[in-house]
Amino acid sequence: MRAAVLTELNAPLTLADVDLPESLGYGQVLVRVLASGICGAQLQEIRGEKGGPLPHLLGHEGCGEVEAIGPGVTRVKVGERVVMHWRTTAGIASAFPQYTFRGAPMTSGLVTTFSEKAVCSENRLTPIPKDTPVELATLLGCGLSTALATVESEFRGFGESVLVIGMGGLGLCLLGALDLTTPSRVCACDIHENKRRKVEIYGAEYVNVRTEKISGKFDLILDTAGNEEGMENALEHLAPSGRYVMIGQPAPGKPVCVRNARHMFDGEGKTIRATQGGGFRPERDIPRYLKCADSLYIHNIMTHRFGLERINEALDLVRAGEAGRVLIEVAS
Ligand SMILES: [Zn+2]
Repeated sequence: MRAAVLTELNAPLTLADVDLPESLGYGQVLVRVLASGICGAQLQEIRGEKGGPLPHLLGHEGCGEVEAIGPGVTRVKVGERVVMHWRTTAGIASAFPQYTFRGAPMTSGLVTTFSEKAVCSENRLTPIPKDTPVELATLLGCGLSTALATVESEFRGFGESVLVIGMGGLGLCLLGALDLTTPSRVCACDIHENKRRKVEIYGAEYVNVRTEKISGKFDLILDTAGNEEGMENALEHLAPSGRYVMIGQPAPGKPVCVRNARHMFDGEGKTIRATQGGGFRPERDIPRYLKCADSLYIHNIMTHRFGLERINEALDLVRAGEAGRVLIEVAS
């Protein structure tokens, strides 16, 4: 099968043929990948900030169809459409699949999406109705689910003000999720002027942090960018009793400065915390999230499409920060 393989750090992925394992092990599922998203985690892996030895298969947000199931698998059936997600759900946690690349074994995660087929652990797949749009199903693998779960768990209700930092795919998903709630004000900041219209579609206020200043204080700050300097600045805008939620990860080893830690005691005390996908639980959340999809303006979040063979162009676009979510159309 065709795959985009991480063979060298900080270099383009290698488009090559990879051999699937000869048989499926306990709890493993063979999925024909229809589409994949790209999120910050893959960029971190390409930079060598996370992940295992090379060569390695990537991708943790996708939509596919089940082609075969291994022993013990009960949660998905052959022919079903599935969301491929990195958060674990009910079902078996399988062993890592053993792919072969250029005659030698290669490493892979328990779900991967940058390839025509993937051997996934049963607990990384959730079946969905066959007519679920591929774009929506793909986004539910990470970005959209993280956004909806984060807003569900962190937004406390009527009249709260919210600042969202970074308008990549995740930032736009967060605006879609917030649009289903009752904030008094949503401010969205980014450094790319082409995001202004995308932000305004959700009724949010755009601030280009290169040229404009953020005004006011916010009860909730959702940071998708993971930039240390941006975080230091944004912390100044946290209201008394406010919550700062780190969703995007800062680079390893980088300190973040709280300029006046005394202000952290204002109100009932402020909180800074990191979240893992908003605590998204696929088996519980995906069926619910499918029902609110029509209100999320998916076409506004999904800004570009590329075939698998052009994935390196797509990665460059995401790195440049100019895209929302980029869809890799794996099956033609
Ligand atoms: Zn992700």
